[in-house]
Amino acid sequence: MKDVKESMIYLDHSATTRLSDTAKKAMEPYLQEYFGNPAGGYRFAAVSRDAVEQARKQMAYLLRARPEEIYFTSGGTESDNWALRQAAELMREKGNHIITTAIEHHAVLHTCHELERQGFRVTYLPVDKFGCISTENLFSAICDDTILISVMYANNEVGTIQPIQAIGKITSEMGILFHVDAVQAFGQIPIYPEQLGIDLMSVSAHKFNGPKGVGLLYVSRNVPLTAFMHGGSQESGMRAGTSNVSGIVGMTAAAVEWSKNRRKWTAWEQRLRNYFVMRVLREIPDVTLTGHPKQRLYGNAHFVFRDINGLDFVKYLDQNGIMAATGSACSTGQKKASHVLVAMGYPDDGSYGALRFTIGYENTKEEIDRTIQVLKEGAAHLRSIAQK
Ligand code: PLP
Repeated sequence: MKDVKESMIYLDHSATTRLSDTAKKAMEPYLQEYFGNPAGGYRFAAVSRDAVEQARKQMAYLLRARPEEIYFTSGGTESDNWALRQAAELMREKGNHIITTAIEHHAVLHTCHELERQGFRVTYLPVDKFGCISTENLFSAICDDTILISVMYANNEVGTIQPIQAIGKITSEMGILFHVDAVQAFGQIPIYPEQLGIDLMSVSAHKFNGPKGVGLLYVSRNVPLTAFMHGGSQESGMRAGTSNVSGIVGMTAAAVEWSKNRRKWTAWEQRLRNYFVMRVLREIPDVTLTGHPKQRLYGNAHFVFRDINGLDFVKYLDQNGIMAATGSACSTGQKKASHVLVAMGYPDDGSYGALRFTIGYENTKEEIDRTIQVLKEGAAHLRSIAQK
């Protein structure tokens, strides 16, 4: 696949990121040299076990949490499933009402649908035209039997950041469990769950230059969450399965690297994004920036183009050396408008196409200039075909 990538401009960092050299280097010893199963009783296995426990301490330090509040998982989807299903189960005696938002990732939405099938009642909070929920709406949705609230930190399509601190204050005061899907935000934004009143939080390594297939669930020590995966006694008996040692070590190295470089990297992403948005809106007709003008992820630029099919545009960009998305990675290939845009009030009538560009710290101004050029030509070309 090397030739496919060589001259390509990668602008899909919300889908996934390149494994950093630091993370790769940290992982290498655990791929071949120290391959022992951390559960083993000999010293060789202890090398792997120590690496996992060291990683747990580091991740806890970054989150200002305690090591025993960190559970390693296979990524965001597993963490979301675990948090919601087991929190619902834990609180079943107290009530059966769950609140989430209409714009969550499918890892949360589809899990909520499953919980509805099991008899739970779920309220999907609406969002405004910027993709933001209102804390007043959230407050009014709370009933006596509300047991759990799940709100994503930042949206994976339009990048909008939610008022997590304000929600955490409400849930803490009312004794309702609060889960946050921080998959898009972690790395980019320093997040200290205890300070924010968060009880459960999902993180995924491949969104911040760590490896794929590894993540974590933060579980506040005050929440007696039960196991989701049954089997061996790994992760204090809470998440069975042989630990992904190299993955855990790689994720931690990537998280540490992000925490050291956060200011520099996010400032660069934001600068490039602002320049990109300004030029696109100025130089291409019938384009709108979606999402919140300010409260959004640094590298996110999401647009809707009138009279252009988003998938056609993604293909055009691909043929011209640019990798972008219509929405979330999971929605690509679907013809329907994304549930996020529909919730924000955009029509589901095919009158526009959505394009998401997510800039990373490795992108350059030359790449953005080239992208603008291709976008301009592409918009004109695709619109002229549509008119024929
Ligand atoms: N939650 C959000 C907000 C995401 O953007 C994603 C991935 O795109 C996930 C959850 C799923 O994470 P993973 O790919 O690690 O399963």
